[in-house]
Amino acid sequence: MGFLDRIRSSFTPQAAGDSNALWLYVRCARCGAPLAVRVDLRNEPSVDYDNGGYVLHKEMMDSKCFTLMRAVVRFDDQHNVTERKIDKGEFITKEEYEKITNGK
Ligand SMILES: [Zn+2]
Repeated sequence: MGFLDRIRSSFTPQAAGDSNALWLYVRCARCGAPLAVRVDLRNEPSVDYDNGGYVLHKEMMDSKCFTLMRAVVRFDDQHNVTERKIDKGEFITKEEYEKITNGK
């Protein structure tokens, strides 16, 4: 195996089995800074005894104006998102997030 092969193999993308991760893309309502937050679906959501399924409370802070945003995401038993709300920010799509971060 040559030198280049070794370099290439060290850049192998991370294991594809990251299906337990959910990415939340949000934007600060005050300064518009985008934020991507990884959620570990195995550990972070807690059982929602009142409504069934799971609920996640996530706090995140943007790095520009340091607004603390509080998100609440609800899931069904299969961890599909059924509802999401965020305080002091808004949810955006992955495409919107990439557009904002690449457009600088
Ligand atoms: Zn902000």
